[in-house]
Amino acid sequence: MKRTFKELFFTLTFCLIATLGFSQSKEITIQFLGNCGLYITDGTTNIYTDFPYKSGAHGYMEFDESQLDSIKDNSIFIFTHKHSDHYSEKNIKKVIKEKGGKKYGSWNIEALKNLEESLENFSVEVFKTKHKWSPNHYSYLITWHDKRIFLSGDTESAETIGTLKNMDWAFVPYWVLLDAKENDIKIDAKMFGVYHLATVQIPSAKEKYDDLDNIKPMVEKGEKIILELRTD
Ligand SMILES: [Zn+2]
Repeated sequence: MKRTFKELFFTLTFCLIATLGFSQSKEITIQFLGNCGLYITDGTTNIYTDFPYKSGAHGYMEFDESQLDSIKDNSIFIFTHKHSDHYSEKNIKKVIKEKGGKKYGSWNIEALKNLEESLENFSVEVFKTKHKWSPNHYSYLITWHDKRIFLSGDTESAETIGTLKNMDWAFVPYWVLLDAKENDIKIDAKMFGVYHLATVQIPSAKEKYDDLDNIKPMVEKGEKIILELRTD
């Protein structure tokens, strides 16, 4: 009798652990923070791209101080370049001082590529891309679990993205879509997030893209995209 109870107890405990393990977040969440700022998480690791920038810089989106406070501890910060609507030295310094974490960009691009050694099911390909007035601009293709997410940043050209295959989400400014159209470049992405919209451009972007199933204008700060991961 005693042994049976013990067996049952262990079986139940095992089932519980197995269930908890299994039900651990099987998705990647992408939250829009403004401009090219995204918060991307698999529930374990937290990545911020082009955030924090300087709120309101160059007439682009503002954010509240509380958004800096909500940044997770020990995050990874990836920047495409250092223009102030993408990057703020003051803000990132403050955040890393208070919460730890590490920032990556043109200044330590090798370290960024090596992130795959410390993160599970993660890799990032880096592409030096053209951007006016910025000699050091990079775009990134993150492969995380089974998802491929492209971060265009501020580049003007669709040249690089046109060479990539099988992206799940491509985050691009609208002018990359225009460039692709003009130059007959096909972009192999299931979904497009059009980011880096100035507040005044939001109504026309909505009008233009709202009816298209594969293009989402990133207009609402805080809105989330959920990417369900394959469970097989
Ligand atoms: Zn720029």
